Amino acid sequence: MARRLLIAGNWKMNQTKREAVAFAEAVATRLAAGRPDADLLICPPATLVDAMTGASSGSGLAIGGQDCHTAKNGAHTGDIAAPMLKDLGASHVIVGHSERRADHGETNAVVRDKAAAAHASGLVAIICIGETEAERDAGKTLAIVESQFAQSLPAGATPDNTVIAYEPVWAIGTGRTPPLPEVAEVHAAIRASAENALGAEAAARLRILYGGSMKPSNARELLALDDVDGGLIGGASLKVEDYWAIVTAGTAAV
Ligand code: PEP
Repeated sequence: MARRLLIAGNWKMNQTKREAVAFAEAVATRLAAGRPDADLLICPPATLVDAMTGASSGSGLAIGGQDCHTAKNGAHTGDIAAPMLKDLGASHVIVGHSERRADHGETNAVVRDKAAAAHASGLVAIICIGETEAERDAGKTLAIVESQFAQSLPAGATPDNTVIAYEPVWAIGTGRTPPLPEVAEVHAAIRASAENALGAEAAARLRILYGGSMKPSNARELLALDDVDGGLIGGASLKVEDYWAIVTAGTAAV
């Protein structure tokens, strides 16, 4: 089953409005010269979503949020609701990133409810799962990832409204990546879990991204793996040249 690659950037808590607009315009210029066979997405801080959806409008570059609340509005100072992201033109939202699980104590149940809130607003939820280094060293990678997947997936998830991002926590921002066979094994296990949860046809269409120190020099080999359907990229998505090099590496890999 051919799944279209999704090359998604997670900017975390970085970039100014000027930098964000310049990035969107530079990607739009590249896309005007030729569309790669991949979906392109950047998830900037919420402060930049409006400016970026404006600057990238019609270009083929989609813009997403990095988090949303479980509720659609209410007394939650400092939080962002999924309908607010939708209102600004966002198409996706990341939920359950390991930094939010660690910094904000987000459990699988909270992540599941955030994904459900995203779906209710018409956003695609990118649900992040992944083991810590201690869990990997203890040989628990598959068990952790499978249970996070099962517990973070809301009722009503489909391959059209949900993307899974496998991000080994120890690989994020460290320059380290798992050996390719290990990435392949985990992605295959996630797809098998998706078959149980969603059925074979939906599991075959579900996109499963790899995230964790993906960069131009390793993107091609990672994106060429059978069950790797794109990347969630932190540091290397901040510069247009690096992001675009990953896009072109990915489309050359498939
Ligand atoms: C991330 O934060 O989702 C991520 C994968 O970061 P990096 O690419 O910098 O490891």
